[in-house]
Amino acid sequence: MVIKNEINPLSSWEFYKERPLIIAGPCSAETEEQVMETARQIKETGKANVFRAGIWKPRTRPNMFEGIGVPGLKWLKQVKQEYGLAVGTEVATEKHVYEALKYGIDLLWIGARTAVNPFAVQEVADALQGVDVAVLIKNPINPDLELWIGAIERIHKAGISKIGVIHRGFSSYEKTAYRNLPNWQIAIELRRRIPELPMICDPSHIGGDTIFLHEISQKAMDLNYDGLMIETHCDPTKAWSDAKQQITPNELTELLSRLILRTAVSNDSKFLDLLGELRSQIDIFDDQLLDILEQRMKVAETIGKYKKENNITILQTSRWDQIIRKAIAKGDKKGLSAEFIDKLFKAVHQESINHQTKVMNE
Ligand code: PEP
Ligand code: MN
Repeated sequence: MVIKNEINPLSSWEFYKERPLIIAGPCSAETEEQVMETARQIKETGKANVFRAGIWKPRTRPNMFEGIGVPGLKWLKQVKQEYGLAVGTEVATEKHVYEALKYGIDLLWIGARTAVNPFAVQEVADALQGVDVAVLIKNPINPDLELWIGAIERIHKAGISKIGVIHRGFSSYEKTAYRNLPNWQIAIELRRRIPELPMICDPSHIGGDTIFLHEISQKAMDLNYDGLMIETHCDPTKAWSDAKQQITPNELTELLSRLILRTAVSNDSKFLDLLGELRSQIDIFDDQLLDILEQRMKVAETIGKYKKENNITILQTSRWDQIIRKAIAKGDKKGLSAEFIDKLFKAVHQESINHQTKVMNE
């Protein structure tokens, strides 16, 4: 990873006040009235730092509203002048970057459909050379952490130091309740790899429906995200894009006031002592888990040798079905979900097979 200490902490970005950073505004800029009225109401909430609006919209199918284009940038500039909110929009080409910068846009983001394409990201990065603007990179629509990191590296290499990411979930072919699968572990892994990178959650595009906004936002706060990007419209039912997932500024106020904010650090020594004690218990259990897994694999290897000598195949489906069914039933009594046991046992089983295969081919 080339990214080291040159990422400006969010606390030094001009428009950041406190956690969580709130980026609110409509999916798309539609008309001057809609932009100005939404911004007026968002300003009134006193909750948002940045006003967002899509100017160029990458739509899945043609003949849909593809964004108002350059005229909308004038409205964003007006929002900044009239309401003192920082303004942000999505860019996907060199032209978008130049136009947005001309109108004094404070925050640019790279959309999920652009983040998948290294040529497009590089074009945006080249246009950003030597520019001092904040840039957020959305996760690519496919769950590929390396691709996401690649896009971050390209923008970072262009000299952008106010850089961060937006987690907006991942497409899937299966129909799920959410519009996009959160795959939280991908964002968590990104955080582990580049801890100093500010991370914003976009519950609007993850959920795809206003009913999910609160639970996703709360989860993001509990995972210590730095902020939220929430699509907000003065009249969501009439929105020209993403109508189902947009809320009114009043609903935004209500949503944010219901969020419980926990901090990642504490200096209460009693709390820290107890936490330290509990964590050492966890470490002990983790060590035990590893020891047990090691022992289990050793037995699997012995079985492998035994099967080899007797010319028996590794996989014996009926035995495996039995193991999983028994484990799920037992797990249930211990408060462990069937989904977890299924995943855990499949992983353990695969590792056993790998060990046996190695032994058999020795
Ligand atoms: C958007 O923010 O309106 C948008 C198009 O998002 P995404 O790139 O996440 O689909
Ligand atoms: Mn949208």
